[in-house]
Amino acid sequence: MSGEGSAAGAAPASLASLAERLGPDAATIEPAALAERARDWWALSFLAEARGDRIVGPAAVVLPASTEEVAVVLRWATKTGTPVVPRGGGSGVSGGARPEQGWVVLDLTRMDRMLEVDDESRAVHVEAGIRGDRLESALQPRRLTVGNYPQSIAISTVGGWIAASSAGQASAGFGAIADRLLGLTAVFGSGEVVSMKPMPRSAAGPDLRRLLVGSEGTLGVVTEAWLACSPLPTSWEWEVFGFASFESCMAALRGVRRVESGAAVIRGYDEVDAALSFGPAGHAGGCLAMVGFDAGLPGLADRRRAVAEEATGAGGEGIDPSKEYGANWWNHRNDAVDLYRRIMGPDRIFWSGAVVDTMEVAGLWSGLPRLYAGVRAALAEGDPEPGRAAATRRSEVRLR
Ligand SMILES: Cc1cc2nc3c(=O)[nH]c(=O)nc-3n(C[C@H](O)[C@H](O)[C@H](O)COP(=O)(O)OP(=O)(O)OC[C@H]3O[C@@H](n4cnc5c(N)ncnc54)[C@H](O)[C@@H]3O)c2cc1C
Repeated sequence: MSGEGSAAGAAPASLASLAERLGPDAATIEPAALAERARDWWALSFLAEARGDRIVGPAAVVLPASTEEVAVVLRWATKTGTPVVPRGGGSGVSGGARPEQGWVVLDLTRMDRMLEVDDESRAVHVEAGIRGDRLESALQPRRLTVGNYPQSIAISTVGGWIAASSAGQASAGFGAIADRLLGLTAVFGSGEVVSMKPMPRSAAGPDLRRLLVGSEGTLGVVTEAWLACSPLPTSWEWEVFGFASFESCMAALRGVRRVESGAAVIRGYDEVDAALSFGPAGHAGGCLAMVGFDAGLPGLADRRRAVAEEATGAGGEGIDPSKEYGANWWNHRNDAVDLYRRIMGPDRIFWSGAVVDTMEVAGLWSGLPRLYAGVRAALAEGDPEPGRAAATRRSEVRLR
């Protein structure tokens, strides 16, 4: 095992015996490696760090290179009673990858290969620790995409997407990760390896793949996945509309969804979020709805017309295309990750009490006004300067 110092919690001798059963450099207690995995992107962890709290790192980090090594670690953990927490990119926002004292972090990022592409079925087989942006780059020469584009794509992994039930910025068209997941291999706490073959649907009995989606590492460790691919859009076309109220914006998006326009991106911005996101591009005020199409979609002109009819019918006004809100957003859609880090990390570029967080909620159309009002009210509660908090954003609007 590499590193110095003693491991708190899991007994050092026991850790050393685990390290012997793994490949070289697969386990470490180096302080820097432990500190790096002491938290994920959970806002409360960032705040504790900013307050100067002592952040407890794990007892050790193990970096398996294969499903069999993951099984070795979990068998060892069960035998020794050591808590293990799986980790991909560590970009989760609910503290799921955060270890407690004495725990071992099972870091999957060495398992980062694209194993196979089935061009005929448009499906890709990967190891779970592959980062999202690297997967997309590897698929690009084949003109394929998985289509799961979370804002955190460059800091998250396929295993983390499955375990945290990820939905990307084009999920209106490509679906969320649950919709792209065809098969997976997982290791359970006993060390048992279970492979679920790639299938478009479960034809009989419950769909066990779904058990792992959103399980946050509590039910098993995902080591491999088969994901559905789609043709990679060559470019995008955008329709953007302004609205006087969030209610009319929502009514428009509901209509857009119902005309089955084939749009891959459907986004609604309330007034605060529209000002934050498009103020620098000249947005003068009001809410916004943005609809993005794969430019190669057959019948695009008719689809755009149908969307425009729904939006204007709900009171929207088309935004001058020369402002290029859509293209601008697409090109800069992930910039907020760095800003997030600078606000919440050690730089604390705004005032010390500033907090940014991202959360996903889901609801039926009929429940959205209450949900929206409730989230805003909760955010504004205790705000010393009302209105400064409470920007809301929805990256995905889908009917289930
Ligand atoms: C700025 C920012 C923007 C974000 N935008 C989005 C967005 O647009 N859409 C979205 O869905 N999410 C978003 N997220 C949240 C986060 O990126 C996702 O939840 C992502 O799926 C986490 O992947 P990860 O590899 O970083 O997982 P981690 O943070 O490492 O882990 C997340 C959870 O999954 C478990 N886990 C990790 N790997 C495995 C595995 N192989 N097997 C079993 N369990 C595992 C962990 O124990 C933990 O409970 C954003 C986060 C940030 C910080």
